[in-house]
Amino acid sequence: MDHTHCPGCGAAFPERDGPTHAYMTSSPACWAAFGRLLAQEYLQPRLEGAHRLSVDAYAVQHPGDPADRRAVQSVGLHLARLMVQLETPRPPRQTNSVMLAFANRKHTLIPLHPPSSFSMTIADVTPFAGKSEHAHKVQEWARSAWNDWAAHHDWIRRWARGD
Ligand SMILES: [Zn+2]
Repeated sequence: MDHTHCPGCGAAFPERDGPTHAYMTSSPACWAAFGRLLAQEYLQPRLEGAHRLSVDAYAVQHPGDPADRRAVQSVGLHLARLMVQLETPRPPRQTNSVMLAFANRKHTLIPLHPPSSFSMTIADVTPFAGKSEHAHKVQEWARSAWNDWAAHHDWIRRWARGD
């Protein structure tokens, strides 16, 4: 079977037809893989923490069109959310209020040029979906996704502080 590389994250999946997200540009196969991962996270309450991270990791690896304001805001917000969760972890309620404050300022985000490739993608995580390694793999994926955006860490930290 032919494999295609996702235009967002670069993951190789067997070619298939299907829907994709409106502005997080991906291959249909990659979007379907994300759906399978989310399905496990909705099913298993113990994966609630992993769920937040997997949404953020997926979003920053599918930056879409920099001319689309929704895509620009999505990348910036999800990078800021990753930064907060990985660098300054807080209890869930505090995390939620920080993220809400970010969302209220999303109009000030600017287009950020994505890294040329990602060291880990959803293709490395889906084999563990729903298994005991699920949360650990998502954590690893989220950290690698944040690290791959290192060129913009300072910008995101400044934005998050409101500078
Ligand atoms: Zn992808």
